[in-house]
Amino acid sequence: MNTNTSILVIYTGGTIGMINDEKTNSLVPFNFEHLYSHIPVLRRYPFQIDFHSFDPIIDSSDMSPDFLVELAHIIEDNYESYDGFVVLHGTDTMAYTASVLSFMLDNLNKPVVFTGSQLPLGMLRTDGRENFIAAVEIAAAQKDDVPLVPEVCVYFENHLFRGNRTIKFNSKNFNAFLSGNYPPLATVGIDVKYNDNLITKPNFKKLKVSYSLDNNIAILKLYPGISQQAVNTILQIKGLKGVILETFGSGNAPSAEWFLQELETAINQGIIIFNVTQCKEGSVDSGKYKAGLLLKNIGVISGYDITTESAIAKMMYLFGKNFDIETVKKMLSEPLRGEMTVTEK
Ligand code: ASP
Repeated sequence: MNTNTSILVIYTGGTIGMINDEKTNSLVPFNFEHLYSHIPVLRRYPFQIDFHSFDPIIDSSDMSPDFLVELAHIIEDNYESYDGFVVLHGTDTMAYTASVLSFMLDNLNKPVVFTGSQLPLGMLRTDGRENFIAAVEIAAAQKDDVPLVPEVCVYFENHLFRGNRTIKFNSKNFNAFLSGNYPPLATVGIDVKYNDNLITKPNFKKLKVSYSLDNNIAILKLYPGISQQAVNTILQIKGLKGVILETFGSGNAPSAEWFLQELETAINQGIIIFNVTQCKEGSVDSGKYKAGLLLKNIGVISGYDITTESAIAKMMYLFGKNFDIETVKKMLSEPLRGEMTVTEK
């Protein structure tokens, strides 16, 4: 470990930061002076660890574009002073935040490792201690002064995942996150085993941050029996620019005339429809079934194996750029930050 290494820990809120207040016997957010008393082993790391806490801290269910912008600002403002960043974040929307940050931070050449916990740091059986220590170690890991994982990632329960590939899939087990379509970037056992061939290589260009996020988007999740009124109501939202269409299996949808007509009308009005599968593993394959081909034929864009979380992030980011509609469609169809794998022509 390099003694010149410095890590900035950014605390946004969430379960990990809770300790028991002995006076009231209830869970309250800790302040960072308490951190070393809860994780004394941190003192043994030979590098510098500094802290920045949001004020107020939030339950991650309250995550908003403004908060994301502030988080990106903290990273940009401190980018030259630190070798890596650890973001302590509630688990509920961690996958969304990590996805959005991965798009906002263009030319990222340093680790931004999100972590949190299912049990508060102040509880004896907490998973927060191990998650926190490993996240710091990963954020500081370098070879020949180059960070090993210059990506936005999520560390949880022995696994380091690419952030924009994750979803929260379990609300009670310690392994709360899943990356169904991309293997872990690293696994932690006795050693930390980095899967170098899966990790994005640094490009050594200057960090460029996009602060404009456009949330004129919606999710339309299909289910057997969905009514025309439900579909129409979503597609008629004022100012709507893009819809994530959560489809069945490999990207399939009802073949009813009214349904395709609703979508086609919306597309003709300039709304982009992005096909994302409801499956946690696997990809949209528009040519496989007629039910998928019909969508492709009316101009629905394939999201391949992207997660819904990442699709939302990508749309907010691209619409925020004010590109013309054809550029947005093109950029949705190709991976920008390793968020999807294109499998068909
Ligand atoms: N509700 C909490 C949050 O996401 C849950 C957690 O931290 O795990 O902020």
